[in-house]
Amino acid sequence: EVPVITIDGPTASGKGTLAAEVAAALGYALLDSGALYRATGIAATWDGVSPDDETALAALAERLDLRFGDGADAGRTWLRGRDITDELRLETSGLMASRVSVWPAVRAALHALQQSFRRAPGLVADGRDMGTVIFPDAPLKVFLTASAAQRAERRYKQLISKGISANIDDLRADLEARDMRDRSRSVSPLKPAEDALELDNSALSIDDSVAQVLDWWRQ
Ligand code: C5P
Repeated sequence: EVPVITIDGPTASGKGTLAAEVAAALGYALLDSGALYRATGIAATWDGVSPDDETALAALAERLDLRFGDGADAGRTWLRGRDITDELRLETSGLMASRVSVWPAVRAALHALQQSFRRAPGLVADGRDMGTVIFPDAPLKVFLTASAAQRAERRYKQLISKGISANIDDLRADLEARDMRDRSRSVSPLKPAEDALELDNSALSIDDSVAQVLDWWRQ
């Protein structure tokens, strides 16, 4: 079996950066599962589909025409041929994703697509339920946490560095609301897999976190 390293955790815990660096270090493929929920939300907005219409949302997720760039296009994403790289990262897209992702039919519609990212020599997958639901047989499962204050501050710096103005208290309230929705939903709630290793990166640099995961992987 092609090995998978899963990295789950709450909003703005640094999963995306950690997953990308671990994948690069090992030469593995990368699955940013949040992007699939974000893209489903964007498609819904384009088509005027309500975030409460489970059936219509699942139909959109089922035929999500999403493409991740590689080579010179690495890091870019297209939906129905349109470049959504910047839109994907907006707070509004994250909030929309958290609303569409509560629906069991939407999660089911994205299940096979997520598993199709598994390819030799290996995959690093980040999200909320990678270790619990999508890749339960993964040999290494990481549950990444950081304090809400830390996460709000990181998100704040990220936005400011892009020239987007932000309020740190609002950001913290938004991410706590999103976490609450992710933890309390009935299907695939955010929680560590029983065999997950927990990593609190509140006081760690990115390099330290990457080194820890690679260390676990080599053990
Ligand atoms: O990780 P990211 O911030 O891109 O995720 C956006 C939202 O998508 C999350 O708040 C969560 O509600 C949802 N999501 C999910 N399951 C995943 C990844 C993301 O429910 N595996």
